[in-house]
This record gives sequence, C-alpha cells and structure tokens, in this order.
Amino acid sequence: MCMGFGLYPASRRAPARWRVLGNPPAEYPHGMTFNPDADVSGNTARRRGRGAVVAGAGGVGLLGIIALIAGPLLGIDLTGLLGGGGGTGGGTEPAEGSVIENCLTGEDANERVDCRVASSQLALDGFWEDRVDGYRAPGFIIVDGATGTGCGTASNAVGPFYCPPDETVYIDPTFFELMQQQFGASAGNLAQLYIVGHEWGHHIQYITGDMERYPNNGTGPDSNGVRIELQADCYAGAWIGQMTQETDKNGVPYLQTPTESQLQDAVNAAYTVGDDHIQEQSGFVNPESFTHGTSAQRQAWFATGYKYGLDTCAEPLTASAGEL
Ligand SMILES: [Zn+2]
Repeated sequence: MCMGFGLYPASRRAPARWRVLGNPPAEYPHGMTFNPDADVSGNTARRRGRGAVVAGAGGVGLLGIIALIAGPLLGIDLTGLLGGGGGTGGGTEPAEGSVIENCLTGEDANERVDCRVASSQLALDGFWEDRVDGYRAPGFIIVDGATGTGCGTASNAVGPFYCPPDETVYIDPTFFELMQQQFGASAGNLAQLYIVGHEWGHHIQYITGDMERYPNNGTGPDSNGVRIELQADCYAGAWIGQMTQETDKNGVPYLQTPTESQLQDAVNAAYTVGDDHIQEQSGFVNPESFTHGTSAQRQAWFATGYKYGLDTCAEPLTASAGEL
C-alpha cells in the first residue's frame, strides 16, 4: 500500500465552510520559512533519479497529466501507459542517492525548494524523536525526474508519497510547480512543509502500527483510508504548530513562526486535495469513492492538530462518521 498525498485540479475560490483559519490568501505567499542563520547542513535527505523522464509535463500533455493524477487516486500506477515512466529498481543509480548540494543554511532553504524540502527533515525528525518511543527516521528521497521505489515509480506527476516497504518518503519538488502552473494551486513555502509533514505522518502510522490496525478496507467517507489520511493531516498540523521548537546545534530554531497568510496557504492546500473538491472538478461527487476525505475534513483536521496538538490526532481513527 502506498500512501500518497491526493491530487487535484485546484480552484482558487473556496466555499465559506472551509475557512477554518480565516480568509484565503489574496496572493501566493512565498516568504521566508526557515531562519536564515539556521544550520541545515546535517539534513539526511538524498537526491535520486534519472533526469527529467516524466518531469517534462509539456511532453506528456494535459491528458497525460490527468491520467497520471488519476493513478494515485485509484491506487494504480498508470505511468507505464505513457511510456518512459520506468519500472522499479532504478537502473544503475546508487540506491542511497547523493547529498543535496549547497544546502547549508536556512537562507539556502528559503531560496531553493529542493533545499527547503530536504531541510524540513531536521525539524520533522526532531519533533517525532521526542514524541514516539522507538522512533526511527524514514528515508527521504528528493526525486530528480523519476526513480524506482518499492511502490512503483516516483515522479512529480505521481506526487509525493510514503512507501511503507521502503520506509521512505519520496517527493519531487517540481511537483509544486505542477500544482502552481497546471492547476492553479498556491503551494507556498508552508504549504510545501505541510505536504512533507503529511507524508511523515504516514511513516509515524507505519512504525506505531496504526496503519496495520486500520488496514485498507475500501473507499468511502468513514473508510480506514480516509481516517488514515485525516490523521496524517492532523499530524502535519501538530508538527507545524510546534515546529519552531526544533533547533540546530547552536540553538537556532530551524523554522520561523508561520505568518497568518502562510497558514491560510497551507489550509488552502488541504482544501485543494479534498476528495470532494477533486471530484467536483470532474462534475460528480460520489462519497463512496472517497479515499482522502473532503476538503472541509482535511482542513479541519490540519487546523485541529495545529491548534490543539498531537493528543487530538488519535481521534480521526476512532471517531464516528459524523465526527470525522
Ligand atoms: Zn496521505
């Protein structure tokens, strides 16, 4: 089972019910997130890939992108249909990947998306080490174009995902450009961290056994799959609510307190990946096919984690359908 993020053709307009934390941002916030002075040189993220095999979205075309996006939602990998997607195994590339070069300071992280995503590992591992007995860090692969994984090919078109057999989070940062350019999503700095935090949440579910206790039992509004996704959103929110507490060896917090507009941008990202929103884009909403939760649910559980912390994040697994 591969735990993806959920993808979406996005709308910038949103119904009033999703305004959990306030009004949506007037423009895309790409301001600072990391403290410029923070030392992020010890991040354990690694780059892996074979160049722009799938990343050149223009070569695939819009229909191709839609087919690729439908893949994770349906739980199948359609990239082979388009050619060039590659298979598992990764050819001759080194399995461990290479370090993210010139990614030394928070300033580098603020300037470059690959460094920003890579450096989030430091604050995520720091957060979870203190809160989960027996925590072990996941692998974290920055995908360059496309790379084989234990869960099929990773690329920007497949979107970020956590692969349990590999215990690894895979993300191609050019995915955010696809969100922005092809689907009108904002995907500012904090929204990017929310997405990474969501995938880290799946690793937590794997090592704590929650993923095994709530196995895939099909789709639907109160399916285990929806519960697992909403808990991962709650975990991401809980981490973002506390993320300024994680510091480098000099005591400098890696991350700055999020601004209100950055929080709204992250909430907007949660809105755009709601199942109902995705389905509205195709003109038909069928709750029985939900796999990630509605936009309102995803926003609400992100905001709940952010406001009330980790203790509240057990609830998505056990709450009645009406309380989800
Ligand atoms: Zn997920």
